[in-house]
Amino acid sequence: MAGLYFHIPFCKSRCYYCDFYSCTSLAKKTSLLRMLQQEMTLHRNFLGEEPLRSLYFGGGTPSLCRPEEIGELIRHAGELWDLSRVEEVTLEANPDDLTGNYLQALRAQGVNRLSIGIQSFRDEDLRWMHRRHDAATARETVRLARQAGFDNLTIDLIYGLPNMTLETWADNLQQAIDLEVEHISAYHLTLEPGTVFGRRAARGELTPADEQAGSEQFRLLCDQLGAAGFEHYELSNFARPGRQAVHNSGYWFGEPYLGVGPSAHSYDGKRLRRWNCADLERYLQETPLNRQYETETLSDIDLYNEYLMTRLRTARGADLRELEKSFGAHKLRYFEERAAKFLDTGLMVRTGECYRLREAAFFVSDGIISDLFFA
Ligand code: SF4
Repeated sequence: MAGLYFHIPFCKSRCYYCDFYSCTSLAKKTSLLRMLQQEMTLHRNFLGEEPLRSLYFGGGTPSLCRPEEIGELIRHAGELWDLSRVEEVTLEANPDDLTGNYLQALRAQGVNRLSIGIQSFRDEDLRWMHRRHDAATARETVRLARQAGFDNLTIDLIYGLPNMTLETWADNLQQAIDLEVEHISAYHLTLEPGTVFGRRAARGELTPADEQAGSEQFRLLCDQLGAAGFEHYELSNFARPGRQAVHNSGYWFGEPYLGVGPSAHSYDGKRLRRWNCADLERYLQETPLNRQYETETLSDIDLYNEYLMTRLRTARGADLRELEKSFGAHKLRYFEERAAKFLDTGLMVRTGECYRLREAAFFVSDGIISDLFFA
């Protein structure tokens, strides 16, 4: 099964923490939408005969597109692929774009899941991150989405803010739980170079939250959402039973995907990864035929390391049978030898043929997983 990703690279303004590619002028929106169709058409065969299981509109801010524009992209995809097995059509949205009429029209176009960028239920946090909405709007958006018939909602939250306390984080989580959404993604704030926060940090004007505070907030996140009935199925992702993200799970379990739009990545499910330039002007100037993709052919070692990087961030973990089948007995032995010390220290557990990180170890997963890499 495969996924289809659309990158909509427009935002009304830039949030201070964000390093996704987007621009703040919508002047080229019509040209972009036309080019997305052309790129889909030309690269329809990238996924071979793999049936599509999910469509995902990410950005940027896809909710800056009119519902009919999104519907037109879905219809065009339907002319190229059989969409009868598509389970999930997700659109990332900002609360301030979503009115009742907009949501009803979007649902009618075939979008069946919304990913709402709420980030925080504290207005002072939202202002500090330069978000455009306030907490009351975020809550109202969820109500309107339900009214419009959306029965699959996910929201994003950010923790690890420098001034965040366990009390304010607990309150944020409780407000998210009270909204009764199906899925929550929670990310630790990172001060990326090239963002406003990254530049402030480089000038010494912003100090990141200390690791201990981040770790305690992560533990609270796991405990509070777990107690509320959410399954912690991936490092940053929590779902009500049966509501795991279909599209993003495809990324974590090595399924192929085609990405269209500036900065969008594609993977053939075997060895080839390629991505578009993160530059709208250039994306529009190149025709789909002469597009200059960046490409990477994954070696056996890359594939092995990526398998561990993605699987060990999931609750399912790394499967010894898959490791042996895909990478051979030598790498399987290597993995088991390297992983033994993490079993001894209790950071990993083995259940049947699967090795997985303990929930508390997710927070330090980068260090553990890189130690298991094949150099
Ligand atoms: S977080 Fe979303 S709305 Fe904010 S700049 Fe990034 S893509 Fe745009």
